[in-house]
Amino acid sequence: SGIVNCQNTLIANFGMPVWENPTEFMMEAVFKHEKMKYRYISTEVPKDKLKAAFEGVKAMGYKGFNCTLPHKQNIIPLLDGLGESAELMGAVNCVVERDGLYIGENTDGKGYTESLSQVTKIEGKSILILGAGGAARAIAIECALENAKKIIIVNRSKSSGQDLAELVEKNTAASGEFIQLDGEVAVPANVDIVINATNIGLYPDATKVPIDMSTLKSNMIVSDVIPNPPQTQFIKEATALGCTTIDGLGMLVNQGKIAIKYWSGKDVNADVMRQALVDLFN
Ligand code: NDP
Repeated sequence: SGIVNCQNTLIANFGMPVWENPTEFMMEAVFKHEKMKYRYISTEVPKDKLKAAFEGVKAMGYKGFNCTLPHKQNIIPLLDGLGESAELMGAVNCVVERDGLYIGENTDGKGYTESLSQVTKIEGKSILILGAGGAARAIAIECALENAKKIIIVNRSKSSGQDLAELVEKNTAASGEFIQLDGEVAVPANVDIVINATNIGLYPDATKVPIDMSTLKSNMIVSDVIPNPPQTQFIKEATALGCTTIDGLGMLVNQGKIAIKYWSGKDVNADVMRQALVDLFN
């Protein structure tokens, strides 16, 4: 008939900067693959323009947006409500319009637990997390909400490490413990899962993660949040020791897959998203 629907559902990614953020590539690739009439637009928004950008979202009827640095906390007072983990973490990476209200969610930690669930049950596990920044907070809280038994936070700075361990201990059913990083950390023998949630190893950094590799056992699961390169030195060494490993692409892909589910209700093909990133990084 020649009549085409030119209307797309709009999603943004607000950050400053956003030029090094690969999310748009995997989102657009999977929208195309799934024949979804959605567009995902990376948009640089300076800190003092977030409120105006959010007004624009409402005026133009965006279904939602991701927010990355420096907006993950600053968006909170502007929103109509928060999901459970976003509330506990005090950070939002995904905003979803539901019945006219814009609700803040955090899919970073959920993306991680989704990857982890593909290789093990989280319930009852003891988990050591290196780092206490945004990624570590998201992972610690979400694993605790998935009924992990114990979360051990190892961090260089005492205050943020202690804060996160206390947040877990006081606000979730899991126990939270803090170990101050001093040289290399020895992984306690009863730990099931070891996670690097620092930026050590992010391209072009090739520094070694401060974990005593001789304390890793082959029955441990070892993972890294670094998406680029996916095979970090840490992951390579842990694989050589016989550990089951999970790379940072899993978290990145799954947080996006969960966000799409929130925005559209649709379960999309994660392999297409992962391949889009692999192609981009190669
Ligand atoms: P933050 O800046 O919030 O936190 C960084 C953390 O790393 C802090 O705990 C910091 O310790 C620690 N750290 C940094 N350098 C060193 C070092 N040389 N030695 C010891 N500790 C160090 O960053 P984010 O948590 O937001 O991000 C961390 C990484 O996670 C990034 O590389 C990012 O790419 C990745 N990420 C991946 C995601 C994914 O989907 N795969 C999602 C989100 C993040 P201290 O407190 O002492 O400074």
